[in-house]
Amino acid sequence: MQYTSTQNNTATVSSAQAIAQGISAEGGLFVPESFPKYDGITFETLLKLDYKSRAKKVLSDYLTDFTEAEISDCVEKAYTADKFGSDNPAPIASFTHEDHELNLLELWHGPTCAFKDMALQILPHLLTCSLKKTADGKKAVILVATSGDTGKAALEGFKDVPNTEIIVFYPSDGVSPMQKHQMNTTKGGNVDVCAIIGNFDDAQTGVKKIFTSKEVIDALEKCNMMFSSANSINWGRLLPQIVYYISAYCDMVNEGKIKIGEKINIVVPTGNFGNILAAYFAYQMGMPVNKLICASNSNNVLTDFISTGKYNKNRKFITTVSPSMDILVSSNLERLIYLLSGRDSEKTAEYMNALKTQGEYTVEDCVKASVSEMFYGGYCTEEETLETISALYNDSNYLCDTHTAVAVNVYEKYLKETGDRTPAVIVSTASPYKFSRAVLSAIEGREITEEDEFKIVDSLNALTNTEIPAPLEETRTLEDRFSAVIESDTMPQYVLKALGL
Ligand SMILES: *Cc1c(COP(=O)(O)O)cnc(C)c1O
Repeated sequence: MQYTSTQNNTATVSSAQAIAQGISAEGGLFVPESFPKYDGITFETLLKLDYKSRAKKVLSDYLTDFTEAEISDCVEKAYTADKFGSDNPAPIASFTHEDHELNLLELWHGPTCAFKDMALQILPHLLTCSLKKTADGKKAVILVATSGDTGKAALEGFKDVPNTEIIVFYPSDGVSPMQKHQMNTTKGGNVDVCAIIGNFDDAQTGVKKIFTSKEVIDALEKCNMMFSSANSINWGRLLPQIVYYISAYCDMVNEGKIKIGEKINIVVPTGNFGNILAAYFAYQMGMPVNKLICASNSNNVLTDFISTGKYNKNRKFITTVSPSMDILVSSNLERLIYLLSGRDSEKTAEYMNALKTQGEYTVEDCVKASVSEMFYGGYCTEEETLETISALYNDSNYLCDTHTAVAVNVYEKYLKETGDRTPAVIVSTASPYKFSRAVLSAIEGREITEEDEFKIVDSLNALTNTEIPAPLEETRTLEDRFSAVIESDTMPQYVLKALGL
């Protein structure tokens, strides 16, 4: 299996190169040149396997330059019961709510209580393995721009992994206090965390600039270091996410909710478009899907794109109660556009260039038609997010976080609008305790003025009698280690200094 770039389809690289490099030289994203196809018989076999074995099968079909032993080693290290609380890191919670069934795929049982652990617990192992194959001896410098959850998940995944350094940038006012605390208390000798003045897009643009800055790259090169990325633009992030969709499909069959071959709908609370793109890839592999439902918060740039074919980031950035979805440039959409425009890398580069220079682009009619055939886009306001949390808790005794609430709300709008009763899997992306203030405020129906985050956690715990996740509990008594706040245009200097260059 080879990989091509969304902005240069004549270049091909191996999977190890794609993962080691993170982003292609001209700034495009790596995409597999074809998709492995799974038929009913393949699914029949997968049904009987546990999560880790399903992961090994999917990974081995994409990482053809890895040995079986290497893949097995990466998977075994990542998805331990110790880190994910059980042998199934991606369980489905099913219950009836009002007149419909909800199947919530809970992807937040990992070490940082958000779905990004699913990929970031395995990425460091895939990356170290890739570096051995492609850049023996080089130290990988991981730069991360985060709207909150990626940062902590990447820090946890990479901390003390030999031959890696990780630096995380987050928008100073764009993440929850708990997210900030989680990041700033990370242990490990190879980690650094820095706030930037600006929003997530500023952080992401800053990181992208450093990745392509000749000056910084040369400075690293001299010291036998190279950049790599743990953002969802890295193929090693996306690939492990395909696994849980395939696995969820198998679990739905095993639980008698569908038969093999029957289609499902998938609902994903979306920001950077990574998670939902993984679902699209699973569909490309032959998993039966009817609709992919893309749920946004008030930053509804994707909702507009799906209905009009015009992507327009020239709008106000809104800070919401679901901060991990506060994004105006959804990087992974580039991969979808590339595939839907018939792998036309020139066209894709044109669109991305227009996005950079004018802040907008409009895809051709055929691309627009393919998008709306497969995707439904909807969004949810702040008020609706809180109402959904409260309704789920009060009527169905299920406590969900703000991001998951956005997905449930948009799914319910979809049901009303279309009447489509195809069984649906809704992705639940974070523990409610990660966003305790908003969740408590939703349930109590009042503003929470308490300053101390852990007091809010305790109130939520006392009120709902649900368990505080152990990894959050552990940070309660830890002191912050990092406190830098910088302007985004000084990020390159910060990186060089942090690396001692
Ligand atoms: C990152 C994140 C999302 C958005 O996922 P994308 O892959 O960026 O679309 C949704 N919910 C939570 C809790 C997240 O951390």
